[in-house]
Parts: sequence; C-alpha cells; structure tokens
Amino acid sequence: MRQAEEKETKGLMERGADGIRGLAASYAVTFKHLFRRPITESYPEYKRSLPARSRARIILTRDPDGDERCVACYLCSGVCPVSCISMESAEREDGRRYAAWFRINFARCIFCGLCEEACPTLAIQLTPDFEICEPNLLDMVREKADLLVDHCGKNDAYDFYRHAGVSEKGDKGGHIGEAPPVNLKSNMP
Ligand code: SF4
Ligand code: SF4
Repeated sequence: MRQAEEKETKGLMERGADGIRGLAASYAVTFKHLFRRPITESYPEYKRSLPARSRARIILTRDPDGDERCVACYLCSGVCPVSCISMESAEREDGRRYAAWFRINFARCIFCGLCEEACPTLAIQLTPDFEICEPNLLDMVREKADLLVDHCGKNDAYDFYRHAGVSEKGDKGGHIGEAPPVNLKSNMP
C-alpha cells in the first residue's frame, strides 16, 4: 500500500517537472522573439526580387531577328486547363505564320506554366511580374499589343525558323545538317 503511494507521488512529481520544463521552454522562445527586430517588408515600397522562373505575367517574345516568335499553332490554347488563351492564325507572304490576334484572359489564368511548356517556338513565357491585378475584371483580358514585348525573354539565342523552315510551299527551309528530301517516286518500278 505504502509502495503504491510512493509510486504515485513520484509520478506526480515527474509530471510536474515536465510541465515546468515545457513552460520554461515556451517562455524562452517568447522572450527570444520579444527582443528581435521585426521582419516586416513594407510592400509596395519594398519589393523583394523573385526568382527568374517565378510564374506570373505572360508575355509573347520575339526571336533574335526581331520577328514575332508565335506561329499561331494553338498548342498553348489547347493545353491551357482553363481555356484562357485564344487567337487567330494568319500567314505572311513568305509563308511564315503569325497570330493575327492573340488574347489571354488573366482573370482565369492559374499561372500553371503549361502554355510555356507546350510552346515549340518559346514565344509564350511567364515572368516574375505579379502586379497585374485590375479592379475591373474586363481589364484583365490582355490583347496581343499588351503581351508582345520587344525582346527574346529567357532564351535570347533560340530561333524556331532557323530549325523548322518557313514554309513547305516552294523552298523548304532546311534543318541544320538535314539531308536533302528523298524523291519517293524514284523508288517506284
Ligand atoms: S499559365 Fe496555365 S492557365 Fe495560364 S494561360 Fe498558361 S496554360 Fe493557361
Ligand atoms: S505562343 Fe507558342 S504555343 Fe502558343 S500559338 Fe504561339 S507558337 Fe503556338
């Protein structure tokens, strides 16, 4: 009987000591932060620079020759999970395609980056600029003139047309080191 009482008293003392240790540790953390300088960033006066791969405002870039990279292939609008990209394709006299108009509804965009992944010409790119909100939702719909920039964006050396050619009509642009086309009819009996 006496042994049981002693065991219970010992357990109570251990639990009490645990409680005091826990309380002391939490007060220590409180005091440590009480005398620290607060880490408050005053936005928009102070703007933290974001990593280059941050995904926000979308732009349409140009190739190193200054031409529009977009060939209006519709891959970006096809892959977009919220269907916020639309465009109409057109063709220049030399056969080079471009977007007659190109529209992105930023009110729907979820900045997933899939359009950038899908684009074969590196035309569409996401940038770290996140300050694109407007009080009026309709102002979040951006046209080609708002999206097209006068630089190459992330990859300033890539030129789709140096690899893929301009048109299949007439002179086909050759891939670097590409063998001349085979005349299939020459194999016929
Ligand atoms: S980032 Fe995503 S949601 Fe936004 S336009 Fe591109 S594919 Fe669509
Ligand atoms: S931005 Fe890229 S993926 Fe979209 S239509 Fe233009 S070339 Fe195709």
